[in-house]
Amino acid sequence: MPWFRKKNQKIESVPAEERVVKTEGIFVKCDQCDAPLFKPDLEESLQVCQHCGYHFRIGARERLSMLFDEGKYEELDAEVVSTDPLKFVDSKPYPERLKQAQELTGLPEAIINGRGLVGGHLVFAGAMDMLFIGGSMGSAVGEKVTRLTHHAIRERGAVVIFAASGGARMQEGTLSLMQMAKIASALAQLDEERLPFISVLTDPTTGGVTASFAMLGDLIIAEPKALIGFAGPRVIEQTIRQKLPKNFQRSEFLLDHGMLDQIVDRREMRDFIIKALNFMMNPATIKRKEAGAGDSS
Ligand SMILES: [Zn+2]
Repeated sequence: MPWFRKKNQKIESVPAEERVVKTEGIFVKCDQCDAPLFKPDLEESLQVCQHCGYHFRIGARERLSMLFDEGKYEELDAEVVSTDPLKFVDSKPYPERLKQAQELTGLPEAIINGRGLVGGHLVFAGAMDMLFIGGSMGSAVGEKVTRLTHHAIRERGAVVIFAASGGARMQEGTLSLMQMAKIASALAQLDEERLPFISVLTDPTTGGVTASFAMLGDLIIAEPKALIGFAGPRVIEQTIRQKLPKNFQRSEFLLDHGMLDQIVDRREMRDFIIKALNFMMNPATIKRKEAGAGDSS
């Protein structure tokens, strides 16, 4: 005789298509350590994995609200957007590509400019977004970085730029490359005015952006394990015909070789920048040319 009998009432079976645990959109998997991460926790830790410290890529608006006091800033130069001077068509026409990027990101261009306070200091900050045509630098991005610098000169503030870029935007050809020189000369003016520029390199910072403003900071800091370089490793290996060392073009390697001043965890980034500004924004220097600071744009 069996010990247990099956009763008549069966448990209602769930159709196969409904047999899933509904956690979709609540957890994300860490790209580095594979740990499941609870989304609200991840937001709390500024999109950094609590287990291994992996830094997820974030958007331009998130960057600026993490930087400014109480997350508040005034957006500047939003009206500056790329046109299509070369009538460029690759797999699709360039204006169409721009429109798609604007819809995808909700941004006017691959960089946004903001004006606000950071630890009480007046700061003009720019943040690039990789989702906008690979964070590429065309005429509009170049113009916006230049204007950011000019705002800082006019109002005696500091410049902070978060770079995230695949390089110059090929759809604008040589006009994109010219931005490198234009920005470099604007930053030289900022230097003459004795105003600081803090460059923050995030994953990835490559091509024409590395070759211009990203590496021109008075202080150059990077997030951990960010890819930073000019040409890609394969191109370099083929050119010099040598195998490249491990971790080549990562923040830690660059710091060891004197290309960076510091690697800063995103969770400490704002405090680090405030500390640097406390040191660099010397009140006497800021006031020195207050009367004479003219419009140089
Ligand atoms: Zn992780």
